Amino acid sequence: MVLGLLLARAGVQVTVLEKHVDFLRDFRGDTVHASTLTLLDELGLGARFAALPHRDVESLGAVFDAGEATVADFTRLPGSVKHIAFVPQWDLLDLLAEAAEEEPTFTLVRNAEVTDVLRGHGIEGVRYTDRATGIEHEMRAVLTVACDGRDSVVRASAGLEPRRFGVPMDVWWFRLPRRADDPEGGLGRLSAGRFCILIDRGAEWQCAYIIRKGGDAELRAAGIDAFRRGLAELVPWLADRVCAVESFDDVKLLSVELNRVHRWYADGLLLIGDAAHAMSPVGGVGINLAVADAVAAARILGPHLAADGAAATAVPTTVLRRVQRRRWLPAFLIQSGQRAIHRQVLSRTLSRASSSAGLPRAIAALQRFPALQGIPARIVALGPLPEHAPEWARR
Ligand SMILES: Cc1cc2nc3c(=O)[nH]c(=O)nc-3n(C[C@H](O)[C@H](O)[C@H](O)COP(=O)(O)OP(=O)(O)OC[C@H]3O[C@@H](n4cnc5c(N)ncnc54)[C@H](O)[C@@H]3O)c2cc1C
Repeated sequence: MVLGLLLARAGVQVTVLEKHVDFLRDFRGDTVHASTLTLLDELGLGARFAALPHRDVESLGAVFDAGEATVADFTRLPGSVKHIAFVPQWDLLDLLAEAAEEEPTFTLVRNAEVTDVLRGHGIEGVRYTDRATGIEHEMRAVLTVACDGRDSVVRASAGLEPRRFGVPMDVWWFRLPRRADDPEGGLGRLSAGRFCILIDRGAEWQCAYIIRKGGDAELRAAGIDAFRRGLAELVPWLADRVCAVESFDDVKLLSVELNRVHRWYADGLLLIGDAAHAMSPVGGVGINLAVADAVAAARILGPHLAADGAAATAVPTTVLRRVQRRRWLPAFLIQSGQRAIHRQVLSRTLSRASSSAGLPRAIAALQRFPALQGIPARIVALGPLPEHAPEWARR
C-alpha cells in the first residue's frame, strides 16, 4: 500500500491487488515505528494518523522472574519523533488506501487473489481470481511487485526459493479484556519455559504466547484449562480474566518463518517486504522493514516508471537490483539479530525448566547503564537505514 501510494504520487499507473475484501484481520502486528510516523508526516498524513485511535509508547519493558526491566527507551531517539505507536493495522491500511485513492492513477482491487504469474519475456503480470465471483482475470504490467508476504504466491510462481533459517518457536495469538488500571503500552513476560507479549489496544490486550515450534497439537491436547492456568501463573494479574479465552477456537496459531531470497528481482518482477525476507516477530520490526523497502523501491523506480508514461517499457534489472542493494543490508542485519535472539534467548527460555535467579546479562547491563536503552530503541523504532519520502511524494 505504501509503494502504491508513493508511485501514484509520481503519476505512475499502479494497481494493488489485495486478496481480501477488507483489511480486518487481527494479529498481523500493530506497531507503527518512529520512522513510519516520520514518513506519514512527510507524506502529509500525520494529522489523519493522529485522529486514529492509537496508543503512543515511549518505552518497552519486560518482566523476568528476577524483576522488571526496561529494554528500549524511545525518548532517547534522535529526531523529533520519540515514541512508537500501536494502532490496529487495518486502520493504518485504510488510511493509506484512502490517501492512495485520492490519486487519479491509483486503483485498489479488493478480493483479488493472485494465483500465478504471466510469463513471456520475463514476468509480464499476474493471473488473479475475483473471490466474489470466482472469475479469473489477467493483469499485464511492465513491472510486478510481489508484496504478498511470507507465503508469497508470486515468489513461488516465479520459481524464487528463499533460503530458510530454522526458528525455535511459533506464536499463539488471542485477546483478553484490558482494565483501566492495567499497565499501559507493550509488555513482555519471560519465565522458565514460557514467554508472553501483551500489546495494549485500549479496551483489550492483544496477546502473543510463544510456544515451541511444532508444539501446537501437544499443547492443545493438554486442554484449555492447563493453558489458562499456565498463563495465570506467568502473568498473575491476568488471572481474573483468562476465562475470556473460552476455547482453543479463540487461540490462533501463527507459524513463524525466517527466510530470505538470494535475488529479490527477475525480469519484470521485484520482491519486497516479507516476500523477499520473511521476518520473525522478534523485536516487532517486520512492518518497519517492509515499509522502508517500499519507500526505497518507490524512490528508485518512481522516476523511471513515471518518465515512461503510457508507453511504459520494461524496467531494466539493473534498476531493480538497486532496490535490493539498498535494502539487503538492513534485512540481513535485523534477521541476523533475530536469529541470535532465537538461539541465545528464546531456545534457552523455552527449554529451561526452572527460573533463573538474575536478569539476563544484556538486560542487566541495560538497567545499569540506561543510556544503552537508546540502542535497542533505535533498532526497533528506526531500524538500520531508515528511508524518507522522496520530494515528489511529499504533501
Ligand atoms: C506472529 C507474528 C507477529 C508479528 N508481529 C509484528 C509486530 O508486532 N510488529 C512488526 O513490525 N512486525 C511483526 N511481525 C512481522 C510482520 O508481520 C511482517 O514482517 C510484515 O507484515 C511484512 O509486511 P508485508 O507487507 O511484506 O506482508 P504482509 O503484511 O503479510 O502483507 C501481505 C499482503 O498481501 C496480501 N496477499 C497475500 N497473498 C495474496 C495473494 N495471493 N493475492 C493477493 N494478495 C495477497 C495479504 O492479504 C496482505 O494484505 C510479526 C510476524 C509474525 C509471524
